[in-house]
Amino acid sequence: MTVTAKLLRLYLVDKQLRGLSSRLRASEAYLGEQDKLLSELDAKASTLVTQIRSLEATLKNDEVEVQSMDERAALLRERMNNAQTSKEHSAFLTEISTIKADKAPIEERMLVAMTKLDALRAEAEAIEAQKAERVGVRQVASNERDARAAEIKDRVDELKKQRDVAKEDVPPPALLIYEQRLALNVEYVMAAVEEQDRRNMEYTCTACYTHLPIEQVSVLLKRGDLTKCPTCSAILYIEDHLREDITGSDKKSRKRSAAAPASHDDFG
Ligand SMILES: [Zn+2]
Repeated sequence: MTVTAKLLRLYLVDKQLRGLSSRLRASEAYLGEQDKLLSELDAKASTLVTQIRSLEATLKNDEVEVQSMDERAALLRERMNNAQTSKEHSAFLTEISTIKADKAPIEERMLVAMTKLDALRAEAEAIEAQKAERVGVRQVASNERDARAAEIKDRVDELKKQRDVAKEDVPPPALLIYEQRLALNVEYVMAAVEEQDRRNMEYTCTACYTHLPIEQVSVLLKRGDLTKCPTCSAILYIEDHLREDITGSDKKSRKRSAAAPASHDDFG
């Protein structure tokens, strides 16, 4: 078995593994999305809680201030009622109206704050409802992910064993190149060589469609050394049917060559 053939055996197992886990990855991505949405809602909720607390504190201060103003006004009113002279009486009256005037903007401010607080509390409640709903969706997503994982577990375990066997066979330097490419998560870790025109020796890489130097195709056919596409770096291989086809016709052409020496040797 050539290095390329060994790599291809490993690649076919990896492709199955990847295919099997694609549904699992999709459900994992969906679950991740739910987690993200939930954490966004959490952040919104905690911002609202901070705003509500701060507004509640401001409102409490204003309440205390208004209360002390009311107490002071009540005290002044009492004194005013016991005033001995009209001058004294009007002095108390002036002071009471000053307190009233000072109180008005505070009460106005409190009203605005209370309206805002109501709105914030309603918003917080809505966020909590959204959170509860999202927690439900997340649970469904999580169950789905677990079900997918369980569904493919046996097959994945089996493929992993096959992978270990296939991997052991590959020479370490080739394996390193392969694993590096696998880690890139590209669509084509390996790519088949496609024949365009045998007579003109035109062969392309199935991953990037570019023409391959005939020397590379020749090396793959003869020795099966690790060969990368010069354009996209996919590890190239030749499918069995094409190899048989080429080598078959190569033999025929050799026979023809022997019969008619003028004809050139395709893969010499
Ligand atoms: Zn390519």
